[in-house]
Amino acid sequence: MRPTTQLPRRLPRRVEIVEVGPRDGLQNEPRAISTAEKLELVRLALEAGVGAVQVTAFVHPRWVPQMADAEEVGRGLGELARRPGDEVARDRPAVRCSALVPNLKGYQRAVAAGVKAVDYVLSASDAFNRRNLNQSIAESLRELEQVARAAADDRVALRADISAAFHSPFEGAIAPARLAGVARQAASLGVGEVGLSDTDGFADPLAVGAGVEAVLAGTSLQVEQLALHLHDTCGRAIANVMAGLEVGVRRFDASAGGLGGCPYSPGASGNLATEDLVLLLHDLGIETGIDLDRMLDAAAYALQFSARPYQGHALRVKRPELFRQA
Ligand SMILES: [Zn+2]
Repeated sequence: MRPTTQLPRRLPRRVEIVEVGPRDGLQNEPRAISTAEKLELVRLALEAGVGAVQVTAFVHPRWVPQMADAEEVGRGLGELARRPGDEVARDRPAVRCSALVPNLKGYQRAVAAGVKAVDYVLSASDAFNRRNLNQSIAESLRELEQVARAAADDRVALRADISAAFHSPFEGAIAPARLAGVARQAASLGVGEVGLSDTDGFADPLAVGAGVEAVLAGTSLQVEQLALHLHDTCGRAIANVMAGLEVGVRRFDASAGGLGGCPYSPGASGNLATEDLVLLLHDLGIETGIDLDRMLDAAAYALQFSARPYQGHALRVKRPELFRQA
């Protein structure tokens, strides 16, 4: 590993990774995955040193049957923290488990299940917003206002996730100014953090850099308040990470084992694999607080739930025995 003093000045020294495998990774997997299996994946990620995990989504079970146990997962987190011999939540107060919510009803379900951080999803693409959430961006923003007010009262951390932030499967490239406009409205409602998602995985590094810079220039948000959520559909997730690092982003979502993908991009490979991201960041001399070897354990565990072959790289390089034909 090279000494950090040789880092280009603009690269952050430390990056936080948000493990989204239990939600984004598993949500489209066809086979039923039990609550206990999901909680085990959460536990493995936390034990590897991941500081934040998106654990489930409070969406209508008809839309996403895999997330029908959101309440059980939410309640299970409390037990996870209390398990004897488990150091996970007790010794690491920064540990934060969030849940995705698409509307006020989802928010209320999440809070009732004991969740203390929510990710409210909307889009920079009106067509995507309508297809995914069945309402316009303006309607989603009005609902976000209610969620933000409730979250302030309930002392619940709120992140707004802007999907199709750079590219939409229905509209193509999203102009940076349009993204910044949605981010500005979200920030004006008191949202403390904004996630920018390349949901279909068609953004390129220039689009990611331009989008982030437009958000920083056009909103009150600081770079510490931004996260990037990247999919590897076109094999660009790692290149897009570099683009994000170069404009100062220091929080990235990723999915153990590279599970997940965009349901609107048939055949798309998955999310950026957490283990690939950790490997890159450590080679760049950037701290993550994550033990790569234990992250590989979590990735190997996650992979058993995937209906597809492994889409990441680090597990193949570091654990070749897992891929030898029997
Ligand atoms: Zn995603």
